[in-house]
Amino acid sequence: MSVNVLFAATKARWEEYRDPLHAALSEVGVTAKIDIDMAPRQVDYIVYAPNSEVQDFTPYTRAKAVLNLWAGVEAVVHNPTLKIPLCRMVDPALTQGMVEWVTGHILRLHLGMDAHITASPGTWRPVAPPLAFDTRVTVLGLGELGLACAEALKGLGFDVAGWSRTPKDIPGITGFHGLDEALARADYAVLLLPATSDTENTLNARTLALMPAGARILNPGRGPLIDDKALLNALDTGHIAHATLDVFRTEPLPPGHGYWHHKSVTVTPHVASETRAAYSSKTVAENIRRGEAGEPFLHQVDRRAGY
Ligand code: NDP
Repeated sequence: MSVNVLFAATKARWEEYRDPLHAALSEVGVTAKIDIDMAPRQVDYIVYAPNSEVQDFTPYTRAKAVLNLWAGVEAVVHNPTLKIPLCRMVDPALTQGMVEWVTGHILRLHLGMDAHITASPGTWRPVAPPLAFDTRVTVLGLGELGLACAEALKGLGFDVAGWSRTPKDIPGITGFHGLDEALARADYAVLLLPATSDTENTLNARTLALMPAGARILNPGRGPLIDDKALLNALDTGHIAHATLDVFRTEPLPPGHGYWHHKSVTVTPHVASETRAAYSSKTVAENIRRGEAGEPFLHQVDRRAGY
């Protein structure tokens, strides 16, 4: 028995995914026809990216699941035509990429790398950087990515705490259920929350003011987690010493945006972590195998919570 899989993402992505998806499905013993064009009522699974042309799921009457290629689902989760399970992307490469971006950018700031790179004899200023043991990092969001980053930072010696919707008991990581306490101790705050109505403006004028003077912020989560005006104000006063931002309310970040030229902001172009076909195809294939075997899907989104 063969299943029909519609690949509903951009054309460039299809070139990347065609072979890895076929290989991953055959590895889990599923025979499939995969294509970018298929009569909707013949589709069994939709491999999806929210920037796809497919925005109305109504014609896909026999489809069993939408398998999102992105970890973030805010652009599809509230689609009123979506009545079947929605699964998001979790894969080891996506996690590893995020761990590398977060640890790399924290170490850059922590070690003062920019200031210590001596470009000329006049820039020889030997000031010892602080140690990780004496530096407190709070990771907001302890899901797949946040937890992996928290563990990696703990491994580097940082004093790590985390905040999540449901309380967590993680050895060596202080768990907070209250945002205010979590931020009040944060020399660094790393935002790895999903974009939902509850998380919008998690960092705002009030919560930024709770952070210690000179704190730094890293946002590889989603743009709406931060009230941009409040962050720019806090950067102007120096209360927040630096923000390293990978995601924005509008992407690409518009040319006139205040973040571009602020001396205390580092902009990266939504590259913190990328879905790589060789790895993410395996997650997709495993979910199709599960769907066919009548087993529960992995990484199914809670539509009410929005992530
Ligand atoms: P998960 O769903 O695994 O984790 C989300 C975490 O956020 C959970 O710990 C959850 O709490 C917590 N959370 C959700 N809502 C709230 C709330 N209202 N208050 C407190 N905590 C909350 O997601 P991932 O870790 O896989 O991904 C996180 C985000 O990272 C994605 O949604 C996406 O936006 C972003 N991302 C960015 C990329 C980039 O390149 N910049 C790449 C990939 C992802 P609980 O544990 O209690 O459920």
